[in-house]
Amino acid sequence: MLDLAFLGVGSAFCPQLGNTAAVFQRAGTLYLLDCGSLVFASLLRHHLPEQADSIVVLLTHTHADHAGSLGTLISWCKHVRPLPIHVVHPEESPGELLRLSGITPEQYILHSGMTYADDHVRVQFFHVPHTQAINAYSMLISDGEESVYYSGDAGDIPETVWQGFLKGNVARVYQDVSLHGKKGGSHGEYAWFAEHCPRPFKSRFYPIHLDEACRARALADGFARPTVLDECDTQLSADG
Ligand SMILES: [Zn+2]
Repeated sequence: MLDLAFLGVGSAFCPQLGNTAAVFQRAGTLYLLDCGSLVFASLLRHHLPEQADSIVVLLTHTHADHAGSLGTLISWCKHVRPLPIHVVHPEESPGELLRLSGITPEQYILHSGMTYADDHVRVQFFHVPHTQAINAYSMLISDGEESVYYSGDAGDIPETVWQGFLKGNVARVYQDVSLHGKKGGSHGEYAWFAEHCPRPFKSRFYPIHLDEACRARALADGFARPTVLDECDTQLSADG
């Protein structure tokens, strides 16, 4: 089961909800979906890199709240606990970002192209509307048992993915939504998904990249609540 655990679900200007990013693990490999400015600290807080034999970073785009601590994570994998780290993105642009950050190509393995596969997962990227300045991509991740969709920042969801979700072929959708979003704009339009997502499917639709107002609205409307690791800690300390 591809059960994503989120390090944060916040939008760029809502750091109190963390940077939107998620992890899952397969046989010693830590898969990280996006690596924003706040993510490296969160990874260490949960001792995730320390437990990994290798790391695969699946990157949606290079905005700072999605790629801002990628260089630090790669440096950590060289200087603190040497382990291979793969960076997966349709374009080679992360290489340029890392070069300007002082990270040389031999410190990581870059995989470009619209698909990626290893022993555990297959990933299909989709070009999605977000900003004119850089390209942004979403991804469908499959482990042979099920497929889940992670949007990163996306003003819309690919029609094939949406139809796949409604037919039950896509187990869960994790989608960027905003109360101010417009379909086809920078971020997903909350009202569109609230109207078009049938009620039985709302329990498998996880709004992400949120501000506080949108999060409260989504929960009130019956959408699913992603597992967020820092909230688990807060709950544990509150219970303890
Ligand atoms: Zn962005």
